[in-house]
Amino acid sequence: MALPSTITDELLDRLTSRVSGSTDNTWKLTEVYTGEVITELPQSKPADIEAAFDKARAAQHEWSQWPLKKRLAVFKKFHQLVLDNALIISDLIQAESGKARRMAFDEICDVPMVISYYLKRAPKLLAPVKRAGAVPVVSSSTEVRQPKGVVGIIGPWNFPFATGLSDAIPALMAGNGVVVKPDNKTALSPLYGIDLLYKAGLPEGLFQVVCGEGPDIGPTFIDNANYVMFTGSTATGRVIGAQAGKNLIGCCLELGGKNPMIVLPDANIEETVEGSLFACFGNTGQICMAVERMYIHDSIYDEFVPRFVQATKELKIDARYDFEPHIGSLISRDHMERVAAHVDDAVAKGAKVLTGGKARPDIGPAFYEPTILEGVTTEMMAGCTETFGPVVGVHRYSDVEDAIRIANSTDYGLNASVWGSDLDAAYKVAERIQSGNVNINDGLAAAYAAKGTPSGGVKQSGVGARHGDQGLLKYTDAVNIAMLKKQVMSPPRDANYDDHVKQTVKGLAWMRKLGIR
Ligand code: NAD
Repeated sequence: MALPSTITDELLDRLTSRVSGSTDNTWKLTEVYTGEVITELPQSKPADIEAAFDKARAAQHEWSQWPLKKRLAVFKKFHQLVLDNALIISDLIQAESGKARRMAFDEICDVPMVISYYLKRAPKLLAPVKRAGAVPVVSSSTEVRQPKGVVGIIGPWNFPFATGLSDAIPALMAGNGVVVKPDNKTALSPLYGIDLLYKAGLPEGLFQVVCGEGPDIGPTFIDNANYVMFTGSTATGRVIGAQAGKNLIGCCLELGGKNPMIVLPDANIEETVEGSLFACFGNTGQICMAVERMYIHDSIYDEFVPRFVQATKELKIDARYDFEPHIGSLISRDHMERVAAHVDDAVAKGAKVLTGGKARPDIGPAFYEPTILEGVTTEMMAGCTETFGPVVGVHRYSDVEDAIRIANSTDYGLNASVWGSDLDAAYKVAERIQSGNVNINDGLAAAYAAKGTPSGGVKQSGVGARHGDQGLLKYTDAVNIAMLKKQVMSPPRDANYDDHVKQTVKGLAWMRKLGIR
């Protein structure tokens, strides 16, 4: 299979030249569908990482002084450039990740959505807020938002364009510089997005890229960052969080999940089947919010499951740079073997494969069929840890209390899904699930696409959130500038302190009565 004609040597040279790294040490970035090398990606040594942070910091000083309107104008242009180039970006995402083109296009849409939301919201969030001072009338306090400096972003391979760009947008809007470390396997699409940002008018140097294996890059990277935004596995998140803590810098950790779906007895079966296909197998199951455990009410289980199995069998799985296939490849042969090991372990311990359960080397080196398992238990890897592939376990329940309890019986808490026709009843179930995101009558997109609401994980699925006000404010320090028109805070040195105590007690009582804090 030939690479799309849009991926030229000239384009690859331009993109890889943006990496702060040396060419004597490169990573062979491959086309997932064929395993053939697309380009040699420079790898960054500690000195390259330091240089990248220095350059971003130098550019950030000026950028942070630009009027906000001028900064935001860059993102308006960038928004249009992303839309104009969506198909080239899809080609790059597909080549480096092997995902289906439908999913690549959906991934791109995240970036314009985030831009639109923060274009509207940033002026309000970044404006100084005047608050009551300590002493009414004669004092005031102003909350001023200042950029952190240079934000380090570490991204995973499953949504390289979205996680490389969408998390950077509010950081840049807030006046920060950014250094991103994409996964080696999927560095091309974020590099292309950064290229477009510079075309849109971002000051040269402000957005830097370093590449390399995580453990090699991590320590120098975090030592130079003023804040770290990490998306990846829970295991790596712990390492990043520990180093950020040691350096006393803030971090946001968006981690893994073992996401449950509860299908209530009154769920619309047809819609639930359709929605489950994307919830379980979208991006070949490599979505942090993908559903891996389904709890279906006894009264509909025997109708629902065969229909879900049939619909899954009808999904088209193929290696094509067009919109025909529903399902693409997994990211790598290694990852495919890990997914296969989860299925094999489940089968060896008594689970039944209702459909799928096989690798598809006839299509490409890392293809694996969408798989539905019955009889999965928590003794099986697929029953307790994140599989991160197109594998879901279906379970029967008769009492919704049991379904909620089992849905919550995990250390993870990233995403959940509840399906039912009685929306109030479904909402009551949703409220009781321990998860940062809960979708009613949808698998995951409804919550993730609601950019005004913070989206993050609870329990072992994360710290902090993206989207919403905190998705931008986390990249700022709140500075409290307090002003006195007259010095009234400390009594004169020769004051009678008994009188001062009486007056202060009276004053505090009045402040409470008048609602002044
Ligand atoms: P990973 O943790 O292995 O790697 C993520 C990134 O961290 C990569 O760029 C990697 O090179 C880097 N890295 C690894 N070790 C590092 C270290 N010691 N120091 C610094 N950087 C290091 O995760 P992955 O396998 O690439 O991604 C899949 C995981 O990401 C899944 O668990 C998935 O659920 C999770 N994920 C979460 C979200 C979310 O928003 N919650 C989104 C996408 C993916």
